[in-house]
Amino acid sequence: MCIFCKIINGEIPAKVVYEDEHVLAFLDINPRNKGHTLVVPKKHYERFDEMPDEELCNFIKGVKKTVEVLKKLGFDGYNIVNNNGRVAGQEVNHVHFHIIPRYEGDGEVVKFGEVKKIDLDEVLKEIKE
Ligand code: 5GP
Ligand code: ZN
Repeated sequence: MCIFCKIINGEIPAKVVYEDEHVLAFLDINPRNKGHTLVVPKKHYERFDEMPDEELCNFIKGVKKTVEVLKKLGFDGYNIVNNNGRVAGQEVNHVHFHIIPRYEGDGEVVKFGEVKKIDLDEVLKEIKE
């Protein structure tokens, strides 16, 4: 059983921020900022696109609810991050959205990589082919 399933089952403790029938939201053990929270569907799926539409709707609603709860922290904005696959930085193979509250002047918390020179027409052609 994966580590997040163990948290959902109560086998491993977690600092729960929000919970409903479909999702569990708990503080990330290695916070990148104050209030860094992980939202997970209670049913195990490895990747975002593997989730059936209806479950995805309930999951996204849970993510929004969690943002509402976190507003108590008085953040100025937030990033939502979802990694899929090892190459994308996914370490735990159970779908999870990171909600990372952002505060004015908090520095480089979430960063995209360098801009690459890529022919957009070529990319679109490959997608549409
Ligand atoms: P990923 O890199 O897969 O997108 O993110 C996994 C996240 O899960 C990491 O930020 C890591 O700190 C967090 N994490 C891993 N194990 C645990 C745990 O046992 N408890 C909690 N609360 N967070 C965890
Ligand atoms: Zn799991």
